[in-house]
Amino acid sequence: MTQEAVRVRVRDSNNATEEGDQEFKNTNFLSILATEDRDFLLSATGSQVKISELEGKIVGIYFSANWYPPCKNFTPLLVNAFEEFKSQTPGFEVVFVSCDEDLDAFNNYRACMPWLAIPFSDLNTKKNLNSRFDVEGIPSLIILQPDNYKVDEAIHDGVELLYRYGKQAFPFTKERLQELQEREREKHENQTLMNLLTSQNRDFLLGHSTSKLVPVASLKGKTVGLYFSAQWCFPGVKFTSRLISIYQKIKEVLLGKGGEDFEIVFVSTDHDELSFNLFFGTMPWLALPFNDPTIKNLTKHFDVQWIPSLVILGPDGKTVTKKGRNLVNLYQENAYPFTEARTALLEKQMDEEAKSLPKSKYHVGHRHELTLVSEGSGGGPYICCDCDEQGLGWAYQCMECGYEVHPKCTKSAERPPGSDRQRS
Ligand SMILES: [Zn+2]
Ligand SMILES: [Zn+2]
Repeated sequence: MTQEAVRVRVRDSNNATEEGDQEFKNTNFLSILATEDRDFLLSATGSQVKISELEGKIVGIYFSANWYPPCKNFTPLLVNAFEEFKSQTPGFEVVFVSCDEDLDAFNNYRACMPWLAIPFSDLNTKKNLNSRFDVEGIPSLIILQPDNYKVDEAIHDGVELLYRYGKQAFPFTKERLQELQEREREKHENQTLMNLLTSQNRDFLLGHSTSKLVPVASLKGKTVGLYFSAQWCFPGVKFTSRLISIYQKIKEVLLGKGGEDFEIVFVSTDHDELSFNLFFGTMPWLALPFNDPTIKNLTKHFDVQWIPSLVILGPDGKTVTKKGRNLVNLYQENAYPFTEARTALLEKQMDEEAKSLPKSKYHVGHRHELTLVSEGSGGGPYICCDCDEQGLGWAYQCMECGYEVHPKCTKSAERPPGSDRQRS
C-alpha cells in the first residue's frame, strides 16, 4: 500500500461516524498508525522508520507503561519472542503505544524495547488506537496479520496467549491457536492423577509426620483438590484457614459414609523453603515438595492465573472444576463433591432461598441501602466487601458505589447509625 492510500484512510477514520466505524473494521490498520504529518514510527535508536516497512510482517501493538509491575513482568517475555521471530517469515514487528506519564518515563522504558514506537507526543494516535481496539487494561498486546491487517480479525489476547503457550503461540494465526487448543484438550482428556502429580524421580507427596511420604497412587479413587497458594499472599493465608475448617467438615461427613474420600494437595508458589515449611505446617493435608518442577507444569496445565486457587479432580483424575475456591466460599462443606450436578442443585436451593430474602437491606459497614441482585440482574462475579472473598450469583449491592456482599455475610445486617439516607 502506498503512503497516499494511508493518508486518505486516516482522514476517513477521523470523521468516524457509525458508518465510518463499520468501514474501519475492514480497514487496513496500518493507516491509523500514521497522521497527516507523520508517516513514520520511532525505532529503538530513535531513528524514523517508514510505516510502509511494516507491510508483510505480523504486527503486535503493545499497550504498556513502565510504572505498572504487570507490564514490567511481561515486557521481557515479549522481547524474547520478538528476538526469535523478527527475522522469520513472515517477520514480526511490535509497535509500542506508551501509557507512560511523561517523556522521561517513556524513554527509560523504551531503552529495553528492541522494537518501534508511536512518538510519545502523538496523543491523538495513541488515543485513537486505544479506543479502536477497546483496550481496557495494560499490558495489552493486539496482533494483526499481514493479510490486509483487518482490524476485526485482530487477536486481542496476545498477552494471555504468550503467557499460556509461550513461543508456541507464534504466528498467532487462527489455525495455530486452534491447533494449540486441540492439543490442550487432548492433554486434559488423557489426564490422570499419576501423570499430573508424579515425575520421573518422584511418585510420592509430602505428608505430615516426620519425613512421611505418601504414594500418589494412594489418592486413586478420591476426589482431590489441588490447592495453589503461598504464604506471601494475604488472601491465600486467609482462605487457607477457611479451607482447613471445611476440609475437616467434609472428612467428618465422609467418615460416616465409607468408600468415598477427599484429599487436598498443596501446590506451593512460596519463594523460599522456610515459608513453605511454615505454611505447610498449618495445613492438615498433603503437599508437593517445595520447588518441585511439577508445580510449574500444573500451573500451566490448569492455567492458574491467580492464587489462592482450588482445582478439583474427580475420582478418575479428570478435572471437575477450577472454581473450587468460589464454591467453597459460596457453599462451604456442602460444595463437596464439587460436580456440576451438585452445583446446579445448590444453585437452585440458593435461588429458592433468595426468594425469601428482603429485596433490599442495610449492612453494618456501609451507609447506603443495598439491593439484592442476581447474576442475571446486574450482578456477576464480585469480591465480597465483608469477607474479602469471591462471590458469584446472588449478592447485596450498593447501586451507588458498587459495594457488594454475599447474602450470607449480611446476616448481622442492621441499619447503621449515622446513615445519611432515610428509609422511605
Ligand atoms: Zn462474604
Ligand atoms: Zn454505597
